[in-house]
Amino acid sequence: MEILKLNELFEKLSSEDKKLFNNIFKMSKGTGELAIPQEMHDWIKPRFGEISTVEKQDILQVVNNITHEGALFNHLRSKRPIEAKTDENEEKTLQETKGCAFCDPLKLTPADTFGRVKGKHCITASNIAKYDGLHGLVIFDEHYPFVFEAERINDYLSTAQEWLKQAHKNYNEAVFPFIMWNCTWRAGASVIHGHMQTLLSETPYPKIEALNTNANNYFKKYNRNYWQDLFYIHNVLGLGIQPKPGINVMSYLTPVKEKELLINAQNLDSNLGATLASLLKCYYNIGVRAFNLVIMMKPFELANHSDWSELPVTIRLVDRGNLKNKTTDIGAMELYACSVIETDPFKTIESLKQYI
Ligand SMILES: [Zn+2]
Repeated sequence: MEILKLNELFEKLSSEDKKLFNNIFKMSKGTGELAIPQEMHDWIKPRFGEISTVEKQDILQVVNNITHEGALFNHLRSKRPIEAKTDENEEKTLQETKGCAFCDPLKLTPADTFGRVKGKHCITASNIAKYDGLHGLVIFDEHYPFVFEAERINDYLSTAQEWLKQAHKNYNEAVFPFIMWNCTWRAGASVIHGHMQTLLSETPYPKIEALNTNANNYFKKYNRNYWQDLFYIHNVLGLGIQPKPGINVMSYLTPVKEKELLINAQNLDSNLGATLASLLKCYYNIGVRAFNLVIMMKPFELANHSDWSELPVTIRLVDRGNLKNKTTDIGAMELYACSVIETDPFKTIESLKQYI
């Protein structure tokens, strides 16, 4: 199966499933046509393949009607030559930065005013230049950032949760939690040493609030749970897996960027941590060396924030591209119009199935 044949797959769905798909998504197929001078043929063939596939390019747009996310899929984008490349050896860069401040966090990183949370494989610090009032770090006890062992991932996650609890205990009015992990420089990390970040805010971050509001509006409109329907549709199309009961993994149909996975679960517990560890292992094995991972959750004191009660633990994991490319993966299209995607969500889910 390939994403450009999504319409064929859609045609095979039952009428009920088609309706459900159309409630959430719309898709449209386009063709990009161009005229190639004979002189370009020898340049094109080794890079893009057959001239005919370049002269007539299939493009599929998928839009999430509920969240207003969109993706334009064109496989040829992955074959386009990138001029600005570096021949820097990234493994060398990773090793050379060993002995950094995060390698000695007790001495070389600030603590939060409420102290540090110590895990078995990590320790928290206070971010020195904060995004927001309550902004902490979970610093891994190893420099090399590509961690995939379930025990370690679970330790980081429980330490992050304990930091959130401590932050809430000390600042009662801060209730909205957010956990994130920028892995390596292409994903926005200024420090290479493995670390997650924790935030707790008084008001929800607007993008997360929009997502929750949109999901609630879906319930009001269709009297159905958005998150359950979202997984159902992905699963029916072959883009979903349930590695453990209650953990729904989707190779998302409207990814923000390459190979994006959307994971829903009821609790941020060791089962979810173990699943995440497997997904990361898969990511590393298919060559991902830069990613963003975020965890969105219900607020503390839910009784006062009942409109958040349906939000499951929502994890998003996205590949940020090859460390050797100097060209960034995100341009004006992604910032202001619609994400342009090179990789096929069906290929991503195939890779995942080997690790889950
Ligand atoms: Zn370090």
